[in-house]
Amino acid sequence: MKNSFYSNTKVVGLIGHPIKQSYSPFIHNVAFQFKNLDYIYLPFDVITDNLSSALKGMIALGIEGLNVTIPHKERIIKYMNELSEESATIGAVNTVVNDHGTLKGYNTDVHGILESLSKFKDEITGSKVCVIGAGGAGRAVIYTLIRYFKPEEITIVNRTVQRADSLQNYFTEKMLYSNFKTKDLFPPELIETFRSSKLIINSTPIGMFPDVSDTPTTLEGSFHKDQLVFDMVYNPTETVFLQLAKKQGAKIIGGLKMLVYQAAKSFELWTGEEMPTEKISRSLELLIKH
Ligand code: NAP
Repeated sequence: MKNSFYSNTKVVGLIGHPIKQSYSPFIHNVAFQFKNLDYIYLPFDVITDNLSSALKGMIALGIEGLNVTIPHKERIIKYMNELSEESATIGAVNTVVNDHGTLKGYNTDVHGILESLSKFKDEITGSKVCVIGAGGAGRAVIYTLIRYFKPEEITIVNRTVQRADSLQNYFTEKMLYSNFKTKDLFPPELIETFRSSKLIINSTPIGMFPDVSDTPTTLEGSFHKDQLVFDMVYNPTETVFLQLAKKQGAKIIGGLKMLVYQAAKSFELWTGEEMPTEKISRSLELLIKH
């Protein structure tokens, strides 16, 4: 890792609370080195009460860009001077660009999801899809599905079903898409929902390190060979959920690609340069496996 910084080194970073588990500093700092760019990416642990002053500080200090994570993704919107179409529709920002004091908000999770799913576009369009989770990642995936894949039906499955209902109402109003169903996350009753879905997406942290033996369903009958199963969890790179789906012949998609490509889009917004995504993916896989 580079250890000398100069008077014109540009600063970008991450705000959230807590942020200690993030791989973003690794991804961006390694990418700056690969591209020989004079930038540094720093984590800033910012509590909600300090969000407004942190953004004023960003402008005052000339911090060029920030990633935004839990719990600020939605609250930060009111501090943005401009919003991209996708961040305004989703209602969440994960990337801020400081353009000479004008704060511009983006949601690059959409790019990560598109990169993960676009080669399956023909299979997804017009099919039934099941999204597990109704948080920020669930919002981004529902937006991406409606905007780019036009599925026949989206079932939102969530531990707190009221949250799934409010997401349904939100997107019905925002994107005029009304082919939703909502269900409780109660696997025995979900077998038919899972089986009849061409694509199942886990957008919850279930199965994330250190709780690696957890899975949204343990029922192998949830899966079959004509399915796609996408898990946004990236550590481990192949979750128990994906292992079960693979055993039944489903095509599986891990969360690492999304992680790298959402970062690549932020990187491009800040630097105007392309991130070396293949090299970063390999470096990240090595880091996660150790
Ligand atoms: P969030 O806004 O906090 O939402 C979390 C969702 O997961 C909610 O629907 C919550 O249900 C559900 N949930 C949490 N713990 C659960 C449990 N033990 N059992 C059942 N449901 C549970 O978080 P988020 O921003 O959407 O992120 C969710 C996951 O996606 C995280 O693991 C994150 O790392 C991953 N992610 C990955 C990428 C990537 O690039 N690969 C990008 C973004 C997010 P309730 O509504 O009932 O609380």
